Amino acid sequence: MGKIKVGISIGHGEDTWDTKGSKGIELDNGGHWEEFWFNEKVGKIVYYLLKDHNFEVILPQKWDSNETPLDEKADAFNEAEVDLVVAIHANAGADGAEGACIFHWTGSNAGHYADLWLENFGRLCPEQGFHGNGRHVADWGQWNAFYMLHATDMPTALIEHGFFTTDEQRERLQDPDFQDRSAQAIVKSICDYFTVEYYGHRQTETASTDDSPSIGFVTVEAQELYYYGSADWQDKAGTVEAGEVFTVTDELHVEGYKMYELVSGTYLTANEDYVSFEADESTEDDYVGFVEVEATKLYYYGSADWTDKRGTVNKGDIFTIVETLEVGGGTMYKLKSGTYVTANEDYVTFHEEL
Ligand SMILES: [Zn+2]
Repeated sequence: MGKIKVGISIGHGEDTWDTKGSKGIELDNGGHWEEFWFNEKVGKIVYYLLKDHNFEVILPQKWDSNETPLDEKADAFNEAEVDLVVAIHANAGADGAEGACIFHWTGSNAGHYADLWLENFGRLCPEQGFHGNGRHVADWGQWNAFYMLHATDMPTALIEHGFFTTDEQRERLQDPDFQDRSAQAIVKSICDYFTVEYYGHRQTETASTDDSPSIGFVTVEAQELYYYGSADWQDKAGTVEAGEVFTVTDELHVEGYKMYELVSGTYLTANEDYVSFEADESTEDDYVGFVEVEATKLYYYGSADWTDKRGTVNKGDIFTIVETLEVGGGTMYKLKSGTYVTANEDYVTFHEEL
């Protein structure tokens, strides 16, 4: 049996606010906030959690890209024959409107997914509350007969995570911790729906310098290139683009062809017609120092991005630092393995040498 396929629709795109002036809000400070920012951040966490739980993820709209038309998304899901679709959104509404909610077509099995999500979101994100009883069943002729709910051949749920037009609700949507819990509610519910055991963020050793050292860096040279969810040429998981650079942890031979294993746990061809490779020449001399984890558990990150959580490390773990970075008002250490941890002294201690 193949992997279970889940379709993820990230609501709207990079260009939605800029071109239409909708799906966002002007703020009192003169700036603005876009719904897409929430949708895509949650989508990224959902994506990696699903891959960690061995699902195949169909993502018709690439990361950080403009809005993909809804019919293209629905066609992609139908063509791939995905088993379930979840669309990620946040809501606009009347002044003071509150609460998250889930939409599904009447009679659809997505109603079962909705039951599970209502339970999991209610437990993981109780502060956001529900809009009404949290469920809006859609049907022809009703206001909520949303295109994605009826254009897909498979159970489809559309989730609104609260109202960004209400300050208190939007502040939660902006909070990385709320984003993470929202993503976990989606994925826990997907696991429950397919009776797959849910174990949260993967506790891999990718942050450990001993178990997963970087051997180098691969740069994508082809315009577009598949990457793989496992060391299997059939297990296409999505595409990467020219210019993207990834940390390589291993080189493998798969059915006679070379493949790179990446620090994220995904795989890429090592064929020099499509990629170029640069060995990691870092030596002990390059280190900045060492970081020791003081918190009982601490997130580590796949990139210099606080929302890119990949798992946790434990009190007492020590890692080699290769760089110190300012990220979104905080400080991060880049580790020799290519992953990142906070440099906040409340949680970690810096050692110049051991
Ligand atoms: Zn939306």
